[in-house]
Amino acid sequence: MNFNIALIGGDGIGPEVTAWAVKSVEKAGLAGGHTFKWTELQAGGCAIDQTGEPLPQDVLKKAKACDALLLGAVGGPKWENLPGNLRPERALLGLRAGLGVFANLRPAYLLLELKDACPLKDEVLKAGNSEGKASFDLLIVRELTGGIYFGERGRGINVSGSEDFAYDTEKYSRSEIERVLRVAYDAAAKRRGKLCLVDKANVLESSRFWREITQEMAKEYPNIETSYLYVDNAAMQLIRAPGQFDVIVTSNLFGDILSDEASVISGSIGMLASASIGQKEPGCKYPPGMYEPIHGSAPDIAGKNLANPLAAILSGAMMLRYSFGLETEALKIEQAVSSVLKAGYRTKDIAGRGGSSVKEKITGTKEIGEAVLAAL
Ligand code: NAD
Repeated sequence: MNFNIALIGGDGIGPEVTAWAVKSVEKAGLAGGHTFKWTELQAGGCAIDQTGEPLPQDVLKKAKACDALLLGAVGGPKWENLPGNLRPERALLGLRAGLGVFANLRPAYLLLELKDACPLKDEVLKAGNSEGKASFDLLIVRELTGGIYFGERGRGINVSGSEDFAYDTEKYSRSEIERVLRVAYDAAAKRRGKLCLVDKANVLESSRFWREITQEMAKEYPNIETSYLYVDNAAMQLIRAPGQFDVIVTSNLFGDILSDEASVISGSIGMLASASIGQKEPGCKYPPGMYEPIHGSAPDIAGKNLANPLAAILSGAMMLRYSFGLETEALKIEQAVSSVLKAGYRTKDIAGRGGSSVKEKITGTKEIGEAVLAAL
């Protein structure tokens, strides 16, 4: 198959890390005869420098015309004092909305090679793990384009004029909930077959609505074990027994908080990938998909061959899996990353975390990237 992929390296370390993602995707696809055409586009700070806008209209148009989008990171101190609507990060919101990617998938798992980076004790890790292993492997599916971040908001003064107030509104339509649930159920079907809805149904009407719709949809997925947790309990369970979770699905606000909590227990920001996906439109070959490491542009280490490219490389694997259904190729990349870590390769951000059993080789971006390619 031939794929046309939009590539936005962005700012800071973005272009450095995506370069290795591109090479890894190409190499993984080679054996299956897959070819990739990369349409390089500029968004974020570099686009502001060239055009005055973080996301020029023609960039969005070109990105939409591609089969998927791979992004590095945007932003940096140079653009920090610009007004909100002209800041580089605005490009991310514009791309998400423009591409219609409503489900954010963030895997969080413990790589045994980096186990010492996890702040949880072994007994905690073993607590919820069905095989009694000191490990976890979960996927958070966060609704991305609705809820309180996009609901009606405002400020006012009460009738007597004695006090001012502010409000935000959590509002979800049935279709918004159904489409993200479907993404989560489909992901659970490809994983260990467990889905947990996280809500606050004991208090919020919008959460009760999520729960009703999930209960209805659960009937369509008899092979998936569906469970429900209140968000306060879920926040606790994530650090008390993360091994109990497979897929967690939740609203925009709850997902924002829980996915950051999950990333902390995984260890390093330089290792975590993410995918944002949408619904396939008639006439399109693939559903819209945007893939990016969760880290930012790390201006402090940009251009110094210090950035860890593994999160970007793993984002490439997610693209192959979720946009194109190339599970074998995605696994190849994930296994290559794992074998490179087993062999002791480490960028500085993940060095000294493997325990005494691993003899570490401290390398730069280029050397660890080359090691992944060699493993592939
Ligand atoms: P950051 O993620 O860029 O960096 C935080 C720390 O982690 C830094 O010390 C950095 O050196 C380190 N780090 C990050 N990625 C790394 C990697 N791959 N390898 C090794 N070390 C890594 O977060 P920040 O410093 O808060 O933000 C810097 C800029 O990035 C800001 O302009 C911010 O708005 C932007 N940002 C962009 C995105 C995005 O594009 N999705 C996300 C977060 C932040």
